[in-house]
Amino acid sequence: MGDCDSIYIGQTGRNLKTRVNEHLNNHEKSPFGSHLHHTKHKFSTDNVRLLHMAERGRKLTALENLEIIKAKNTSNVRVLNEEIPSSTLADYYYNRIISTSSL
Ligand SMILES: [Zn+2]
Repeated sequence: MGDCDSIYIGQTGRNLKTRVNEHLNNHEKSPFGSHLHHTKHKFSTDNVRLLHMAERGRKLTALENLEIIKAKNTSNVRVLNEEIPSSTLADYYYNRIISTSSL
């Protein structure tokens, strides 16, 4: 987002712009929507990176959590996502162990 060092990680099974508009329209509840709303930063698909493609479900959610955890451990970016609850981490490790494909 230009000079902005904030990132947001999220999954969607639908059109990306539809999903982003939901964040903007619910900016009281969405940290991503709130950031765009308050800073007037503009969302652009040029700044979007596709991290994984998977069927919606436990594996995709595990991948989403993994990427959030990885990003939170990266020092030069501000991650807008909320902290992953530790109960979710158990699910992530479970998925990582049973998954035959590499993450
Ligand atoms: Zn920003």
